[in-house]
Amino acid sequence: MSPQSEHRWFFEPETFPVRHIGSTDAEVQEMLEVLGLPSLDALVQATIPQDIRLQNPLNLPSQRTEQDVLGEMKTMAQQNTVYRSFIGMGYYDCVTPPVILRNILENPAWYTQYTPYQAELAQGRLEALLNFQTMVTDLTGLPLANASLLDEGTAAAEAMAMCFAIGKSSRPAFFASKGCHPQTLAVVQTRAESLGITLDIGMVDNIDWEQHAYCGLLLQYPTTDGFLRNYQDLAQRAHEAGTHVVVATDLLALTLLKPPGEFGADIAIGSSQRFGVPLGFGGPHAAFLSTKEEFARQMPGRIVGASKDAKGKTAYRLALQTREQHIRRDRATSNICTAQVLLANIAGLYAVYHGPNGLKRMAERVHGMTQVLVEGLTRLGCQVTDEMFFDTIRVSSVSLKPENILKQATHHGLNLRSFEDGSFGISLDEATTLDDLETLFKTFSKDGRIWFSPKELAEALTVSIPAPFARTTPFLTHEVFNRYHSEHELLRYMHRLQSRDLSLVHSMIPLGSCTMKLNATSEMIPVTWPEFSRIHPFAPQDQTAGYNQLFQQLESWLSEITGFSGVSLQPNAGSQGEYAGLMVIRAYQKHRGEAQRNICLIPVSAHGTNPASAVIAGLKVVPVSCDKQGNIDVADLQAKASQHREQLAALMVTYPSTHGVFEESIREVCKIVHEHGGQVYMDGANMNAMVGLCRPGDIGADVCHLNLHKTFCIPHGGGGPGMGPIAAASHLTPFLPGHPIRNPSGDQAIGAISAAPYGSPSILPISWAFIALMGGDGLTHSTKVAILNANYMAKRLEKDYRVLFRGKNGLSAHEFILDLRPFKKSADIEVEDVAKRLMDFGFHAPTISWPVAGTMMIEPTESESKAELDRYCEALITIRKEIEAIEEGRLPRDDNPLKNAPHTIDVVTSSQWVHPYTQEQAAFPAPWLRDYKFWPSVSRIDNAYGDRNLVCTCPPMEDIIKKPEA
Ligand SMILES: *Cc1c(COP(=O)(O)O)cnc(C)c1O
Repeated sequence: MSPQSEHRWFFEPETFPVRHIGSTDAEVQEMLEVLGLPSLDALVQATIPQDIRLQNPLNLPSQRTEQDVLGEMKTMAQQNTVYRSFIGMGYYDCVTPPVILRNILENPAWYTQYTPYQAELAQGRLEALLNFQTMVTDLTGLPLANASLLDEGTAAAEAMAMCFAIGKSSRPAFFASKGCHPQTLAVVQTRAESLGITLDIGMVDNIDWEQHAYCGLLLQYPTTDGFLRNYQDLAQRAHEAGTHVVVATDLLALTLLKPPGEFGADIAIGSSQRFGVPLGFGGPHAAFLSTKEEFARQMPGRIVGASKDAKGKTAYRLALQTREQHIRRDRATSNICTAQVLLANIAGLYAVYHGPNGLKRMAERVHGMTQVLVEGLTRLGCQVTDEMFFDTIRVSSVSLKPENILKQATHHGLNLRSFEDGSFGISLDEATTLDDLETLFKTFSKDGRIWFSPKELAEALTVSIPAPFARTTPFLTHEVFNRYHSEHELLRYMHRLQSRDLSLVHSMIPLGSCTMKLNATSEMIPVTWPEFSRIHPFAPQDQTAGYNQLFQQLESWLSEITGFSGVSLQPNAGSQGEYAGLMVIRAYQKHRGEAQRNICLIPVSAHGTNPASAVIAGLKVVPVSCDKQGNIDVADLQAKASQHREQLAALMVTYPSTHGVFEESIREVCKIVHEHGGQVYMDGANMNAMVGLCRPGDIGADVCHLNLHKTFCIPHGGGGPGMGPIAAASHLTPFLPGHPIRNPSGDQAIGAISAAPYGSPSILPISWAFIALMGGDGLTHSTKVAILNANYMAKRLEKDYRVLFRGKNGLSAHEFILDLRPFKKSADIEVEDVAKRLMDFGFHAPTISWPVAGTMMIEPTESESKAELDRYCEALITIRKEIEAIEEGRLPRDDNPLKNAPHTIDVVTSSQWVHPYTQEQAAFPAPWLRDYKFWPSVSRIDNAYGDRNLVCTCPPMEDIIKKPEA
């Protein structure tokens, strides 16, 4: 029985857990009966080793109603004060077009999508991402862009790592200009340290090219305090010295300015935030990275490319997938997995909506306003440097003290950037009005009065950018950026894209290790409240009391759930949590005088981000083998630990294992590592199997990350945003990540991991709301149901498929693996064929070929009803029958419903149907499809073709189809 139905009094309103958990108590009982178990507690006893089970209930508040929690959330939000922020530093206020706000950002059909690995049912977001890439390549003037990175700071660090890798690691030195944003420099600094790169920060005019062999040079264009410099000669000088040039830049400015690709940049990076994505106190926003084609193989993150499907039709998919960390592991140069897809989609659609002319007009307006600002401030007797600028100026007053200016600014509800020398930075944006300028003038006026109006200054002005800064090349010329400027047109375009994508609004997406659970509407609603979304990341502390309270509570709840004493909310993806956690371990060991410890043990079954993160944290990876059951081979661990006892830094372990099992040996594993001087990093991706039942801190781990976009309800957004906070034991908490602008940690903190102090704060209300709504009892109950659902499905499927790696009592944790390898021999059927056939049933495939090639890993989560679990089982059982028909020769091995899947409406309605099975079997293999059918929009996509003919910007359609085979 769920805690709610046990205790609920007739007059009490209904609390949230019954909405979050898919099955009723009666259905839970039915599923338990199928497993031959009397109760959920009996299930827990049979799955979780006794010596790690949590003895007391979680010390968290009780479950609540949605209205109640939303009410509290509103009160909390109202403790934040929304000022007009002119702080700049890479973060701008902007206007999210309402049509995009409601139909993308607030729309579950977009935000509940998974990463587009199953491209045939992800054509909509892949096209949107291709638009984003095209926009970035056009504006930066470099031909190849990826589909987003985590933030501008991380993008800069990734660019540095690229330069280092392009130079085959032979030049461990990098130069960054002082003109970069301070948080960018901080993130780069942290990464340089861990990669063993010497980072010089200074004025670019003073670079001693004779003395240093830099692998790369980082510039900001325009600089953090607004100046435009002509970098042409500098870039040439750098190239002569064999140094690659990275330019951090601004997309809106580039509509008017000469793009970096035209003055010698090898890599351009930046944030696309101001293209319609709310400030959100620092994130989530999509960063970008573009480069030359020759560096395609060193590019971090995911790239969308065009290819063709089985019928020759243009189709999109993730290009060069083999570069991902999953394959490269400890040879990977980047650990990025979850990125910022939803936000990249928004930025790309913002460009579609405004088009090249709209964007240019907007940029001219922002630049014109800035000219008015300069004119007015000069009239008021202020000093403004007379260098070229776009939207940012640095100003000081001769007659007013900085504290008085600040006082005036606060009085008017404005935030300015304060420099140490008493001058101020002012950055204007799309949302700036003439009234704002008037207020700014009053702020800088001695008596608070002005004798001229911004309007009259504006009327006397002409806006133009002189050579050599002016942009002369066209951009966004592709049709998609020139067609959808009215709201109707855009709405229909977005809806057309949406209709090609399968998401949680259609059916369950049981992705092993990725936990696609309910993202409840109540949890999502606060995200776009202005009190959360319109706050600049460097707004003064006293304007963010609501956020402060939210962070504090969330941190304390996550501490309780993990059994750790401190939490850092800074890492903005699981991969960044891994990197941060390992850096914390390194700092601790250095502090103890054991800086030499640089070996990281990682079981071979680990997720690809683990070895990749270890490498970027400067550690050497030593693999530990697994036994036939998929468990860590304890003898091998013992041997490797003692072999490296002087150098052992850490073990990275996922619990329950990536094979879906609560390993009995986990305590011993942790003990062995500690005995040899190492620390235990626990990958918390599988926390959904642990919440309320056992805790990383009690088991013996020292630090773990939590994927809030898995266990704690932040939606996947088609591949981001996410959040990967880390929790650590008390001996490690002094070293949790710091930040140069607003340091959330103490003075022993490691450097910044993300550009913003709290990562992506505006999505933290989602996890806060989830925990508040469920309460300790609701969370614990839902973990039990998650384990039940996995075991129920495994039980139903075990007659038709072999289930790999079960725990001691034949039970799995919250996910399980089906072995499809035997069908290769018996029917020529591969895991891919089953994945594509599931699409004909309206289902997204489970995780395929990870952690074991040729298998599927199914994780149903607690949010799916028994009816939905049964439907998925029936689909798989039906597919098994089709495989049987092939095995028995009733269907040919090369022409059957699996090999030809997915079946599009074109194929099925074609008058030239030539297959040895019916159109009906192709399209309607299960009865429920008569009621509702999701049609895949393309046939099976040819991945190899796309990689041979890399097209990563909007292609003219004829082009790709005609291009000859390479
Ligand atoms: C999802 C996952 C990660 C990576 O997390 P991101 O948020 O995608 O960076 C790491 N380890 C495991 C086991 C995972 O499932």
